[in-house]
Amino acid sequence: MAFIKFIGTAGARFVVMKQLRSSGGVWLSSDRTNLYVDPGPGALVHCLRSKPKLDPCTLDGIVLTHRHLDHSGDVNVMVEAMTEGGFKKRGVLFAPRDALEGDPVVLKYVREYVKEIVVLKEHGDYKVGDISFTTGQKHRHGVETYGLNLRMGGQTVSWITDTRFFEKLPDLYTGEILILHVVRLKPVGDSPIDHLSMEDVKKILSKARPKLAVLTHFGMTMIQARPWLVAAELEKELKMKIVAASDGLKLDLEEVLR
Ligand SMILES: [Zn+2]
Repeated sequence: MAFIKFIGTAGARFVVMKQLRSSGGVWLSSDRTNLYVDPGPGALVHCLRSKPKLDPCTLDGIVLTHRHLDHSGDVNVMVEAMTEGGFKKRGVLFAPRDALEGDPVVLKYVREYVKEIVVLKEHGDYKVGDISFTTGQKHRHGVETYGLNLRMGGQTVSWITDTRFFEKLPDLYTGEILILHVVRLKPVGDSPIDHLSMEDVKKILSKARPKLAVLTHFGMTMIQARPWLVAAELEKELKMKIVAASDGLKLDLEEVLR
């Protein structure tokens, strides 16, 4: 059985700071492999409180798509939890180079706990247990950022993490399920920010046409517009299946595409 559980669906500063939605990223599970993507603030607490409980000591790996705090705030404590306080050297940490160097978000003493640290690169191919994934080209997001094309449970899942829109974006992510980080309802005037708006999402989905699109990582304007209403409207317009993630949403990959 393979599933994706959205531990938190908050995006950008205000929704995270005020915890209007939980932050903390996503738990992926495929057969006997568990992988955590982007352990932002609250990841540990929300995993342990989720029902049924998701225990980080069963993780086989942790991925940081980039070093921003809302994606990495709990990475150190999650590594500690994965390795049972550092007593069991296990698990793989995947992260872009700038999350490990310069002003690193992964503490040096914590790095000793994991079995392996893999530096993410453009067009890389990675595997942890039953889950494999590739990265595309670097996103346009200020810090080194990679989206993911995952293969798990016999399905393909693409993940457009934080980025500004660029022309090649819809061609990079071809999974049957496409997860998109959409911070803004509308673009911000003439000086675009490094995040997608619903206008960008519409452009991407019209071209990529996945079997299922999942919107998440919402900023304030999306929360105010109620993401489930925004998703329903676009679903009607594009005549394709689009859902808005909510905190704790679990997608069973076998069921969801049926
Ligand atoms: Zn970011």
